[in-house]
Amino acid sequence: MQLRSETSLAARRPIVAGNWKMLGSRERVRRFCAALREAPLDAEVQLLIFPPVGYLAGFAAGLSGLGAQLGAQNLHEAAEGAYTGETSGAMIRDLGGRWVLVGHSERRAGCGESDQAVAAKFAAALQAGLSPLLCVGETLAQREAGEADAVVARQLGAALNGQGAGALDRAAIAYEPVWAIGTGRAATPEQAQEMHAFIRAALGRADEAQAQSARILYGGSVKPENAAQLFAQPDIDGGLVGGASLEAGSFLAIAAAASQARREESTT
Ligand code: PEP
Repeated sequence: MQLRSETSLAARRPIVAGNWKMLGSRERVRRFCAALREAPLDAEVQLLIFPPVGYLAGFAAGLSGLGAQLGAQNLHEAAEGAYTGETSGAMIRDLGGRWVLVGHSERRAGCGESDQAVAAKFAAALQAGLSPLLCVGETLAQREAGEADAVVARQLGAALNGQGAGALDRAAIAYEPVWAIGTGRAATPEQAQEMHAFIRAALGRADEAQAQSARILYGGSVKPENAAQLFAQPDIDGGLVGGASLEAGSFLAIAAAASQARREESTT
């Protein structure tokens, strides 16, 4: 099995991120935070929660002092202005967010976000002092047509080209095959590893050191049952979790799988 170099292992602290999508309630946020406060958390794994933006402040209060970080699921590319219904990067920071999802497939498909729009949001996030978590991934039709690599390379290039060295020090990537999101059909560890290695190699063509320290998360039907095998892959640095992040028990079990993978790597 291929192993990470010691340098990349030290730099690539795993992330387990929960995307609550448009789900939840104040009561659910309260219960989730209370369960996290009771749990033994491993500081070696960075926990991130992306709630609906209206629940950011509730999470910020409920998780304060635990080391978990928060993010929004979207931002507007403008710094401020007459954009009814939108949220700026500065507002996300003001509400306690440090991260923001950009390019999630539900927004690419459902809200018509083009590669150019995603690139503008990625740049705006960095400008606002947020860390963007850039989501990329192919549809099933694209995979079956043998276009997965080209699609992912195009999505990466659109957001990252022109950002200059250093953007990935703050950002992270999530590979989320569209056919695996919310379907219960995760990519196999081998399929995911293959694409993660492809992404790292693509990043390496611009800057090898940065590619080695970039965190690339897998997303798409991650569950407590499949997390350990996915996280054991050498180029998978944690997960972006949708459905299974809504219950503290399953989210914590996935985080525990990331801790275990981290421990096994550092003893190999
Ligand atoms: C997601 O929303 O990014 C996601 C990966 O969802 P799920 O885990 O439910 O497939």
